[in-house]
Amino acid sequence: MARYLVAVCPYCGEIQAFSGRYKRKRCVRCGRFFMVSSAKILGEFDNAYRASEFTRHYKLRRAEGDERGG
Ligand SMILES: [Zn+2]
Repeated sequence: MARYLVAVCPYCGEIQAFSGRYKRKRCVRCGRFFMVSSAKILGEFDNAYRASEFTRHYKLRRAEGDERGG
C-alpha cells in the first residue's frame, strides 16, 4: 500500500514529505537520520503530490502564524 507521510525533523524542525514505507528517514535539511515512529507526524496521504502540497501549505501557514501570533 502506497502511503506518504508528512513529518517534522526532531533535530532541526524541517517539515518534509516522504514515503511511509521507510522506518528511518534522512532529513532533507540537516542530513541527520531520525526514526519515523518517533517523529511528529502531521499528516498521512495516498500520494506524493498531496503530501508535498500539504507540506507547502503547512510551511506557509506556520510562517504567517509566526507573524500574526496564531
Ligand atoms: Zn533536520
